Amino acid sequence: MTIALAIHGGAGTLRRSELSLDQEAAYLAGLNAALDAGLTILQQHGSALDAVTEAVVVLEDNPLFNAGRGAVFNSAGQIEMEAAIMHGPNQAAGSVTGLRRTRNPVRLARVVMERTPHVMLGFEAADRFAVESGLPQCDADYFHTERRWQALQDELERLAVGGSDADVPEDRKHGTVGAVALDHAGRLAAATSTGGRTAKWPGRIGDTPVIGAGTWADIHCAVSGTGHGEFFVRTAVAHDIAARLRYGGFTLQQAADDAIQILTAMGGCGGVIAVDHHGQIAMPFSTEGMYRAAVNGQGQRMVAIYHDLV
Ligand code: ASP
Repeated sequence: MTIALAIHGGAGTLRRSELSLDQEAAYLAGLNAALDAGLTILQQHGSALDAVTEAVVVLEDNPLFNAGRGAVFNSAGQIEMEAAIMHGPNQAAGSVTGLRRTRNPVRLARVVMERTPHVMLGFEAADRFAVESGLPQCDADYFHTERRWQALQDELERLAVGGSDADVPEDRKHGTVGAVALDHAGRLAAATSTGGRTAKWPGRIGDTPVIGAGTWADIHCAVSGTGHGEFFVRTAVAHDIAARLRYGGFTLQQAADDAIQILTAMGGCGGVIAVDHHGQIAMPFSTEGMYRAAVNGQGQRMVAIYHDLV
């Protein structure tokens, strides 16, 4: 049976001119590690759900990416993490938002999906539920990365003087991690995790935990998005791609390209990773780069940051 896996580390990359060779190597190593974590599971006939969970956990634990350990700060200097997971065969889904202490939000999203009667859980009660579920908790120090703190100070300063958003580098605005997989039994799954947007309002909820916006999986395809969340919510990007396949007879690539084009025409930007039940993979994005890696149904492996393959 065909297996396939794609992961992303966010559409907010460092500008190419600012990416040192060491940084590039560190990002590629992080992507490769996450891809390998998921791939090993798929190769051993594990489930797509396990593959996307473990790939995302590796990215959440890596401070380079905006999720888990490397989550960005909101305008009050706090982190509020979000995550979602969805299982294609039965469209079971779980998502969490507003987490401050749970080390791996994607694990909590999965517990919500598998052990509660609900789909979405948020804020203090969600962190409490993580404790009750035995998931590791971390204090604020664990989540405090100097680079994200500096990004918040710069953003607050920009907002105070009314500076243009167009001048803010994309790595300051975006970031999220995600994975989509097809397993040996033909099952699709998607997972996404994020710190959201730097200097977001406390309580702001983005696209990642909104099922159908930043995350979706059914029997046709699995999708995980990254980019300006409000636009992903307004255009229901992840579900739109699945609907184009289901009702429109689009190929995965056409469907994903169109969804990103619509989002961009509306004033948003970002990208998605998507896999269909044939093991085809599409990874369009409208930003300068998107950290990404994949192995498609033919076993071809790729890792890249910008539009050309590095
Ligand atoms: N989509 C995320 C959000 O808006 C951030 C990102 O992927 O850049 O919360």
